[in-house]
Amino acid sequence: MIPVVKPFLPPFEEYKLLLEGIWERCWLTNMGPLATELENKLQKTLNVSNLLFVTNGTVALQMAIKALDLKGEIITTPFSFVATTSTIVWEGCTPVFVDIDRNNLTIDATKIEKAITANTVAILATHVYGNPCDVEAIDIIAKKYNLKVIYDGAHAFGVEYKGKSIFEYGDISTCSLHATKLYHSTEGGFVVTKDKDLNIKLQRIRNFGISGFDTFSDLGLNGKNSEVHAAMGIVNLKYIENIHSKRKLLYETYTEGLRGFAAVQPIWREGATMNYPYYPLVLESEELLLCVREALLQEDIHLRRYFYPSLASSLPYLPEQLLEVTEDIAKRAICLPFYYDLEVKDVKRICKIMCGM
Ligand SMILES: *Cc1c(COP(=O)(O)O)cnc(C)c1O
Repeated sequence: MIPVVKPFLPPFEEYKLLLEGIWERCWLTNMGPLATELENKLQKTLNVSNLLFVTNGTVALQMAIKALDLKGEIITTPFSFVATTSTIVWEGCTPVFVDIDRNNLTIDATKIEKAITANTVAILATHVYGNPCDVEAIDIIAKKYNLKVIYDGAHAFGVEYKGKSIFEYGDISTCSLHATKLYHSTEGGFVVTKDKDLNIKLQRIRNFGISGFDTFSDLGLNGKNSEVHAAMGIVNLKYIENIHSKRKLLYETYTEGLRGFAAVQPIWREGATMNYPYYPLVLESEELLLCVREALLQEDIHLRRYFYPSLASSLPYLPEQLLEVTEDIAKRAICLPFYYDLEVKDVKRICKIMCGM
């Protein structure tokens, strides 16, 4: 069986070594030494400051919305994982969907201004498949209308844009370190902000809003992550170069093998580095997509319709909204099997099956 994703696992012995330290210290969670070490290492690796390791990428988004004190409408993308939208609703705000750009699949910045009302407070957009949003255009709009900007960078680990980390853009950027992401800590995530005060507020929110021995300063939650998770993050970080080069190889093998196949790849933003989190394709038609899925299934190979359906037209807690480009793209978008353990020969086999249709 070839799944769509499979978690990266480091050598068990290396993980065990860190677990032994946890057992000796008997310090399991609440910002222990490994969680702090991971934060420091991530800051170094990604070249960012003010990074906080949190429970997961969903809580990271919730914390970002809470920390920025957002109440009202948040402009967002319908082409993302459901957590991008559900956290907005969960935090008591109203998502306002803006269609995506047909070529790079991120929110279409040229359509944002038309969606702004007196109640708009922020823009929450996703760097889709690690491909950066039009951060410059979004920044200009945000300044003009006094809006906050949150980037869901769940796919964007390691991406740099114009020489700096993509997590440096916007007021707060978030990431997911879930087991299926390209780099992970089993469950986990982080928030990054350039603003020191905001970082301190996020720290308090992560810890129930506690500000001192007997004082509370914010409405908080439990966004802390454990030593066991941090240990996985620390060990996996040692392999980040290997992970990157293997994924690059698989990516290039797919691209080479699928030459002539009736599909296009999202166009990567100029000035951005690639981090190869997925192998996405937009096929010529939904009909072709269903045929490909069937043909691969025959060989026990699995693909994922990612993202499908559009978040603007499928969530039972929101009114249905049909956005032209998103509806069209979501029907034709797939991610092919893509993970560290996948072998080049399997990629070639998948390409052969697809091209032989
Ligand atoms: C994975 C993902 C999330 C959620 O992250 P978790 O760590 O699973 O909570 C949010 N947004 C996007 C775009 C994702 O891919």
